[in-house]
Amino acid sequence: MSVHRAARRFLTVLALAAWVAVFSLNAAAQAVQKPGPKDLCPVCGMLVSKYPNWVAVVQYKDGHAHFFDGAKDLFKYLHDLEKYAPGHRREDVAALQVTDYYSLARIDAQKAIFVIGSDVLGPMGHELVPLASRADAEDFMKDHKGKRILGFAEVTRELPFRLDDGKF
Ligand SMILES: [Zn+2]
Repeated sequence: MSVHRAARRFLTVLALAAWVAVFSLNAAAQAVQKPGPKDLCPVCGMLVSKYPNWVAVVQYKDGHAHFFDGAKDLFKYLHDLEKYAPGHRREDVAALQVTDYYSLARIDAQKAIFVIGSDVLGPMGHELVPLASRADAEDFMKDHKGKRILGFAEVTRELPFRLDDGKF
């Protein structure tokens, strides 16, 4: 193989590697949307990017997303889309994400386990603290004096408002 041909092959491999890198970066960026510096929580109006450890996301099928400064406001929103996001429909939601308390990773809100009544407060006071597993939720209950463990579907429309009043 001539030096030229070897060099050309090397460059081709490099170009392919660059493409793969760009594609995987794009995929990662789509999987984990981040709030921009000006994104406001549609429920309370706070700047979401100031509270990265609490971010919740509603991702729509057309690619745009709404960001929240905690799971509590995400639930208020989902129970009253007409009020907080006129023109948006539940059927158009592609993904719901919350931030796991321990790993700080984004997790599927519908699979997350939530603890209420603990000594851990979010940006908006008492929170539904998202955990990735029931075992984590039980550890969290012990370490932070939680009162109840709830699955996504167990969070009623009234519950986030009761949390605001410190009722668990
Ligand atoms: Zn909020």
